[in-house]
Amino acid sequence: MNALYPWQQEDWQRLQALRQRLPHGLLLKGGQGIGKLDLALAFAASLLCVHPDDDGQACGKCASCHWFEQGSHPDFRLVQSEADAVGDAGEAIEGEKADKKKSKVIRIEQLRALEDFFNQSAHQGQRRVVVISPAESMPPAAANALLKTLEEPTPGLHFLLVTHKPQQLLPTILSRCLAFAVTLPPAETACRWLSEQGVTDAEAVLAQAGFAPLLALELATQEQGAGRAILLQALCAAPSVDYLALADKLQRTELPQVVHWLQQWCYDLSSVRSTGRVRYHGNHAAALRKLADRVAPLQLMNFQRDLLTARREASHPLNPRLFLESLFAAYQHCYA
Ligand SMILES: [Zn+2]
Repeated sequence: MNALYPWQQEDWQRLQALRQRLPHGLLLKGGQGIGKLDLALAFAASLLCVHPDDDGQACGKCASCHWFEQGSHPDFRLVQSEADAVGDAGEAIEGEKADKKKSKVIRIEQLRALEDFFNQSAHQGQRRVVVISPAESMPPAAANALLKTLEEPTPGLHFLLVTHKPQQLLPTILSRCLAFAVTLPPAETACRWLSEQGVTDAEAVLAQAGFAPLLALELATQEQGAGRAILLQALCAAPSVDYLALADKLQRTELPQVVHWLQQWCYDLSSVRSTGRVRYHGNHAAALRKLADRVAPLQLMNFQRDLLTARREASHPLNPRLFLESLFAAYQHCYA
């Protein structure tokens, strides 16, 4: 189910307090990247759940929760722009070019298509829930289509509007909704959570992301993706690589990750040499075969042993750049 983030407990209690006198329009507003949409989804699931837990969270076991998880709940709709509906951060990086063509606005047709839903009564329980995120991506025409429903809502129909730019919403929409300020996570809680997600330099990344933990995680993931691409490109071009420049480029990447990528690379080099098989880098098989012919097997084995030590040191290097320089110098020796 949509589990809450560790910083959302108080917001969750406040939402639960609204449960019995839930307005037709609730506006969850707050900074970008702090988990407003996840909070809204968890709340929606809990409103529809047949047997919510003691703290109000969806049970995750009833038929309603099952439908919700499958994205097929008859009493729930999530309205997003095409661009926002695109999967996770990783996917977004890979398909960045394609995604640029996707609409960033919620089209009026999307709301018109929901007119039947707005007017019917609940299939299951008493309630039907619509989450709109981010609400500011509704152009005025779409917002006006929503306004009609907000002004004369069918009983049991609830809108959870998620926004980080409430000032861009029509005043008429704002006046129809109860504002709910989603709290900015305390830095300490956010840092701990980021560390748990594998971000080593959590404090720095969090600050860089304006103390929004989800944004920070996305940033770290993107940087990692970019870092891996840079490293692999260089490794494929070995041995004629400017390793000093490479160390310079990668010094801000998560170092334990860099070591891990090198381990996978060396595993493939050694595997191609001995069995001809590639495990991690199928798309670089040709480069690996060429390199495997040139690599000195004993040196490669030594380097792989060094990487095990490096993995331990990578979490606390005195100087990331020097750490990488010496790592790459050792790798270069494999082609001596
Ligand atoms: Zn349930």
